[in-house]
Amino acid sequence: MTAHETDKYVYDFAEGNKDLKDLLGGKGANLAEMTNLGLPVPPGFTITTCACQAYLATGREPDGLAGQIEAHLEALERAMGRRLGDPQDPLLVSVRSGARFSMPGMMETVLNVGLNDRSVVGLSDQAGQNDRFAWDSYRRLIQMFGKTVCEVPGEEFEHALDEAKRAKGTHDDLDLDADDLRGLVETYKKIFAKHTGREFPQEPREQLDLAIRAVFESWNAERAILYRRQERIPADLGTAVNVVAMVFGNLGPDSGTGVAFTRDPGSGAQGIYGDYLANAQGEDVVAGIRNTVPLQELERLDKTSYDQLLDIMARLEGHYQDLCDIEFTIERGKLWMLQTRVGKRTAAAAFVIAGQLVDEGLIDLDEALHRVNGAQLAQLMFPRFQLDHEFEAVAQGIGASPGAASGAVVFTSARAVELAAEGKSVILVRRETNPDDLNGMIAAQGILTSRGGKTSHAAVVARGMGKTCVSGADGIEVNVPAKRFTVGGHTVSEGDVVSIDGTTGKVYLGEVPVTPSEVVQYFEGTLDPERTDDALVRAVHRIMTHADARRRLAVRTNADTGADAARARRFGAEGIGLCRTEHMFLGDRRELVERLILAATDAERTDALAALLPLQRQDFVEIFREMAGLPVTVRLIDPPLHEFLPPLEQLAVNVAVAQERGEDVAKEEALLAAVRRMHEENPMLGLRGVRLGLVIPGLFAMQVRAIAEAAVAVTRDGGTACPEIMVPLVGAVQELETVRAEAEKIIAEVVGDSGVEVLIGTMIEVPRAALTAGQIAEAAQFFSFGTNDLTQMGWGFSRDDVEGAFFWRYLELGIFGISPFESIDRDGVGRLIRIAAEEGRAARPGLKLGVCGEHGGDPDSVHFFHEVGLDYVSCSPFRVPVARLEAGRAAIETTGSDSR
Ligand code: PEP
Ligand code: MG
Repeated sequence: MTAHETDKYVYDFAEGNKDLKDLLGGKGANLAEMTNLGLPVPPGFTITTCACQAYLATGREPDGLAGQIEAHLEALERAMGRRLGDPQDPLLVSVRSGARFSMPGMMETVLNVGLNDRSVVGLSDQAGQNDRFAWDSYRRLIQMFGKTVCEVPGEEFEHALDEAKRAKGTHDDLDLDADDLRGLVETYKKIFAKHTGREFPQEPREQLDLAIRAVFESWNAERAILYRRQERIPADLGTAVNVVAMVFGNLGPDSGTGVAFTRDPGSGAQGIYGDYLANAQGEDVVAGIRNTVPLQELERLDKTSYDQLLDIMARLEGHYQDLCDIEFTIERGKLWMLQTRVGKRTAAAAFVIAGQLVDEGLIDLDEALHRVNGAQLAQLMFPRFQLDHEFEAVAQGIGASPGAASGAVVFTSARAVELAAEGKSVILVRRETNPDDLNGMIAAQGILTSRGGKTSHAAVVARGMGKTCVSGADGIEVNVPAKRFTVGGHTVSEGDVVSIDGTTGKVYLGEVPVTPSEVVQYFEGTLDPERTDDALVRAVHRIMTHADARRRLAVRTNADTGADAARARRFGAEGIGLCRTEHMFLGDRRELVERLILAATDAERTDALAALLPLQRQDFVEIFREMAGLPVTVRLIDPPLHEFLPPLEQLAVNVAVAQERGEDVAKEEALLAAVRRMHEENPMLGLRGVRLGLVIPGLFAMQVRAIAEAAVAVTRDGGTACPEIMVPLVGAVQELETVRAEAEKIIAEVVGDSGVEVLIGTMIEVPRAALTAGQIAEAAQFFSFGTNDLTQMGWGFSRDDVEGAFFWRYLELGIFGISPFESIDRDGVGRLIRIAAEEGRAARPGLKLGVCGEHGGDPDSVHFFHEVGLDYVSCSPFRVPVARLEAGRAAIETTGSDSR
């Protein structure tokens, strides 16, 4: 952004509105909105984020800014009938940050700007000879200004305040009288001079300019940078600065300050939620200097202000059509609104409030759907701790990966693996994890670290695994050699049980019992939304029903057993998008597969296949029955064959040991030789997918026959089966044509006149397939994007290794904001999908398009798949509700619903 002399950098509150958040920041835009609603907001003005951006780019205030501040300050002085820092009758102002996105506590505020050795007397006169109040305000200015603007260590002021209270023999700052506070001001000034090498500035305008500059600079404070990185807030937005006429909550018992929500941000329940602190300024509430009282107490203390406040809260809710949070101050019985915004809320409250607002006629169902999201729904599907007063958190970290986990504490990956092998539930505790901890993380029920944020190694890897993780619990002191950690006076040794909540970031001692999610019970069909008085379940039901009505994308599931298929149907799946047949070759069928792989003659191979055929057929019969007429995409066998054989090293050791003992090892030796023969350096790029079908005669034919026979059997029994045979890892149309020719013959022979229809299509998961989709579509009745392999091969990232190995570093460097295996890389892998969809449909109009990689259940990716015009997404059963919700949201967003 370039700064011009003519740019408007300063807006009076009367000039802005709530939609100007980019320019005025959230606080400034909402103060303007409240001003224009006629609510009691102290007058003031906002310096724009553009001014901040210009300052941060050049290191100086942009041309024209000083003059505009002067003009607005004069207008403010006229409105208030006072001049900034006037010795007789001073105007004081607060200087507050306020960025586009709320960054709680990250940036700076300075109150009482304009006070000095002379105006402190004027302030006392203004307040009716209230010396105590005036000196208290002055000492607050020096403290805040010193700390914020001049980097004086805050503890020094706090120690001096404690010392003054000790000298007075009290714990309560209200017991300090005017003389004590005057003395404290002298001490504070000395602290200021010692650290800055100058006297505390007496010139009011200099105070103001320095405070504004400090707020600009606080955008780049280390903690703000860290917070933005974690919350994915762009680094170049800058903050606005609000300069507001001071009103005082510390003028006596008829004054005070408070915060409130228009509904409970925890549960969404209607009512009055807030805290009030009499005779105090806002920072006292945050600092916890005295205990607040529930807002309801204000009714007794000052009924007029209380009633007016409730009235304003109702108006704000009606106006913003949402839960609002507010900050207010009462100055001698007069109520002032200092801030409002649409308030943050928990996942449960988001659903409940959206439902209530529909009932109240404030929003429609589209808007309700828009206000919740799949990440919130996913959170509500995790089990939760059943917390009562017996359990108190001993530490607070970052909820890095949701869920509730309890287990014995271990400090090393090796110990985690050992205890897990004994069937114990363990929590791996580390200062921070590194790639060597991977096995321990896999073995553990949950992971707890004392360092690191939402993008630390532990957090990223745990989320990838769907494992509960609390990171950055810095109250915990981890001592790995001593196998213990300490927290708030407790010592927890290896083997002691702790419980961690990956949603709230809380850590508990002992085992906290777990409650299953009521939302899952609803999806499972065990909780009737029409009968329950659970407000959350009713709201989820209502919004899900609307999402289903609105969405264009169908939602299928990835399932390879009848049980998974049944659960997914209860969760709303409309078919199977991926049945991975290789999972059916494990367990007690492994031996048959070994026979197939090791077959030395055609006859041996044919025998093995003949033995597998009825087993496969039965698998498909179960699945087709379960899906009763819904489409079922069965993928022919995909992984490299060695996955079905014992690992090379283990086999070599077994053979050597058996030989040593003189045992007969002919069979094992043959197996070892085969495993050696089949060894590949890069098996994921080797003999797998369609390549297997082309190399091993009869393998695909057996599977195709099993599918067709199962479909016919189900149909003959009066059911309906809609199989779709999918060929994996195709890169060239010729591969597909070869498989298809053989499959069609078998299908024609088996199906006969049974009326069963079998489609044949392919996965698009090799970049070459995406780029030659026009040719491939000639031979395919459908495409299903295998985004796991497409990401692996598109980026050249081994999907089994890289996330744990180094993605944390890529995230730290901002190379991507989220793992491309978790959320689709729209620019790269997404482009391949777009090309394939367009060229595939151009070659074969009406070509059915779906996705069955992990991305099918990722909220942001679902929006992308909607945009590129796929017909369906397919995901694991637990993700089906998330995909339904997001598909509904994607549909209303592209039809132009009001979005914010
Ligand atoms: C894929 O590659 O996206 C896919 C669904 O197949 P798999 O994960 O089984 O390789
Ligand atoms: Mg694949």
